[in-house]
Parts: sequence; C-alpha cells; structure tokens
Amino acid sequence: RDIFGANRLNSNGVNLGDIHTVNQLTTNIAAQEQATYHATSLIPGAGTPGELQQVFSPADLTRCIGSYNLTRSEDTDLAIENAHQAFAGWRDTRVDLRADCLLKLADLLEQHRDNLIYLLQNEAGKTLADCIAELREAVDFCRYYADQARGLCGHGEKMPGPTGESNYLYHQGKGVFVCISPWNFPLAIYTGQIVAALVTGNCVIAKPAEQTSLIGHYTAQLIHQAGIPEAVFQLVLGPGSQTGNQLCQSQRITGVVFTGSTQTAQIINLNLANRKNAAIATLIAETGGQNCLIADSSCLPEQLVKDVINSAFLSAGQRCSALRVLFIQQDVADKVIDMLKGAMDELNIGDPRLFSTDLGPVIDAKALNILQRHDQRMSAEAQAIKTLAEPDMNGHFFAPRAYEIKGLEILEQEIFGPFLHVVRFRANELDQVIDAINDTGYGLTTGIHSRIDDTIEYVISRIQAGNCYINRNMIGAVVGVQPFGGMGLSGTGPKAGGPGYLRQFMTEKTITNNI
Ligand code: GLU
Repeated sequence: RDIFGANRLNSNGVNLGDIHTVNQLTTNIAAQEQATYHATSLIPGAGTPGELQQVFSPADLTRCIGSYNLTRSEDTDLAIENAHQAFAGWRDTRVDLRADCLLKLADLLEQHRDNLIYLLQNEAGKTLADCIAELREAVDFCRYYADQARGLCGHGEKMPGPTGESNYLYHQGKGVFVCISPWNFPLAIYTGQIVAALVTGNCVIAKPAEQTSLIGHYTAQLIHQAGIPEAVFQLVLGPGSQTGNQLCQSQRITGVVFTGSTQTAQIINLNLANRKNAAIATLIAETGGQNCLIADSSCLPEQLVKDVINSAFLSAGQRCSALRVLFIQQDVADKVIDMLKGAMDELNIGDPRLFSTDLGPVIDAKALNILQRHDQRMSAEAQAIKTLAEPDMNGHFFAPRAYEIKGLEILEQEIFGPFLHVVRFRANELDQVIDAINDTGYGLTTGIHSRIDDTIEYVISRIQAGNCYINRNMIGAVVGVQPFGGMGLSGTGPKAGGPGYLRQFMTEKTITNNI
C-alpha cells in the first residue's frame, strides 16, 4: 500500500486520512517534518543517475522534502529509442486492456491518497482542499478517458458507400508523445495528459515540471503498477530548457502535450517545426490567460464578492483559469470594493497543512519575484485597494492584494498569483470592455455576473474565451462536465476532460473494401 518503499529515506507513517482531531493533525505534521522522498528517472536500461537536486517545501525553505536525480541527456535519448521500439506493440493492444489499466490506476490513486496528499502539500504547497480536488480530478480523468476510448477505438465507424463496397473509419495511436506538465496541477494535469495518450495507443515520455518531480515520480510508479509496460510509459526529470528541448527536437517524437506558459508553447512549436526529415508533429497546448469577469449593476454583490475571492485568491491564484481582472459597473463599484476589502480580511494565508489555511505559498523564488516586481509597479501606477499581511514564515509567501487600474493596457503579461485588478466601467461602455478583453489575444476563462438575460447572452456571444462562467466562480472545471481549455494565445484545444480530446491523439485510417 505504501510505495514510498525504498524511495522513502525515513519511514514515518504519515497518514492524513486518519486525522480526526487537531492534536492528531499536529502529531502528523511533526511526522511530516521528518519524511523525505527520493525520485529518479524511469527508463529501462538507463545508466547511472545524473546530478542530485534537493527539494524544499515552498512553505518552509529550511525543510527538505526529498531529492531527485536529473536525467542525463544520453538517457533521455534512450527513453526516446525505447518508446519508439515499444510503439507498434502497444498501438496494437486491445483498447479494453489499455482502458482497464486506467481504471486500475484510478483505484490506485484513491488507495494512495495519503501519500499523494502528503507530496502535494509539501512539494507543491497546496492546501488540503486543493489536494483533495486535485486527486479527484486525476481519478476522473482516468475513468472518463477509459470510457471515451472504449467508444472510439478498436472498432471501425461505418461510413456510407455504394452497394458492393464497405467503408470503415478506424482510429489508432500516432506514435511517441511527450507530456510536459505544469507544477500547478502536478497530479491532475500530469495524469490527464499521460493517460489520454496511453489509452489511445501511444507511448509516453513524461517530463513533469522540475518543481514537482517527486509527485511526478510517485504517480509514475502507480502508472506502472496499474499495468502499463515500462517502455510504453517512461519518466524523465529535468528542466524544460534542457530535457524538454531535447525531447521536442527529436525526430522520433510524434506529438507533444504541454500545459504552461504561452511563451514556452511557442518555443516547443518552433523546436518541432525545425526538425529535419520528421513528420509534422501534433502539439496540444494549454497555456495562459488574462481572465476577466464583467459585473453589471444588476449583479448580486454578496455572490459576486464570494466568487471573486474564490476565483482570484484560492490556490494562491496559481491556476491558469484564475480571475485577474474584475470589470465592475460604476454604479455599484464603491459598494462592491468595500465588500471585497472585508472579504479579503477573512482569508488565511499560511501553512498549507493546516485545515484553516485558505491559501499557501507561491511555488518558488522566481514566481515570488515576478509578483513582487508587479506589486512595485502597481503601487506606483495604480490605486491600492487592499494588501493583506504576509505570514511570518520562511517560505515563498505572497499575500493576496487588489489594485484599481484604468484599463487592461497596463497589464503586460499574465500575473500568476493572488493578485486582483479592478476596472470601473460605465453602462454605455460594455462594448469597449468586451473589445478590450478580446484584444488581449488570450481566451481562456471569462465570467459574467448579471441578472439581465439579454446582457448575459450578449456578453457570452461576443467574448472569445474557451470557458465562460455565468453568475458563479471561474475555477475548478469538472472532467466530463466542463471541458476545459482556451483559444488564441491560451491554447490550441482540444479541451481536456471533453469528448473531443482523445481524437487528437489518434491517426485516422479509412478502409474501403470492394466486397
Ligand atoms: N482546470 C483548472 C480549472 O478549471 C485550471 C487548470 C490550470 O490552471 O492549468 O481551474
């Protein structure tokens, strides 16, 4: 049940699932202080591991969570070769067998929830609520894609044709997919990318974000335990600028699934395009956003403020779906801003392992530095609404804050953290607001709060965004319920957790028979 096994240097029985009282919680946290985990690449035939990297909790920079070995470049090449060799065999396995592995993985993820939550909290700095939601999402991806794959693969789709001729359309795996996943959903997005590629008959080389290599490794072991052969799914560990680039420059790669910044997606695209004598690769990218919410004077302020708080500040604003800019109609702006200040005061920022914590740290020093620099700019150029106090902890903490700005022009890039911008608009300026949002070029999430059906319909029809939320928060898309993904600078599609996702991982084959 506990696959920390040999990877755990110090075997403390951390079991968050058994916590019922505050005393027990404290005891378990004490045990966590000691637990460490070690990760390496998973490549059959790999040589001696590369350079050792230590991992520290983003909430406490003195606490070492574990360590991992970087994958050496010759082993990355070996992983590509292994995957290439294993592809035809895996492509030709029955879809039922592949789908069963996903169902087994879903069960394993549930069974290993304590260790997964331990790693999510300690390596990624996630709150307990976020950990549980993320675990559920990972499980949902497995079960949803298993079900979708059974419907799509293995049997031909009968097409029309003249008498005496049969026409069938088949779907099959494309080849070797590289899955490059982000640190903000190191379990859910990581698992979702991988299982989508595997169940459709592709081999996978996964490169998790460096910041969350341990979670990536732990989950990778579960993927093997679920029955996926070692050469069909391999893990490499290292920075995008080296390991990621090397993978995307290989002729043997058929596709890349990437979630992260728009800029990195463009580099990947360039790398894939520059490969000599290689087939044109598939790129599935889910990237950033400049997500806005428009609230008119008919909105319910209490509901609006609650949804703004959740969308902008929970998960420390480190979701690509998170709210960055609230457009509020002038007539209700003062009232809403006042309520917003009060609601912000209720937020608890601190140790992600405590039940009372609403948001933990940001991921690393680089992320913190970008936020601090943006804050300096905003304090000179915008009007402060509220800044909370940072906790007295030795971690990468950035307290939630809100500024009033004149318009979107001042925001040069996506600000990935608990940072809200507020813009006032007049009733006759709705079109300008929509134009300004569309002109950012991003199109991930948008919100509208209004009680006027015509306004809602008008905004939704004109806004170019992948996910539009009406009178609710803008985060936490549910697999199979709210297919998630953007357009324009926000991504290529197809949407994760939606009925169109798996098709992109497969090539189509038409078989015509003159009977
Ligand atoms: N799917 C997540 C949500 O709906 C966001 C994913 C991301 O941040 O990349 O909140």
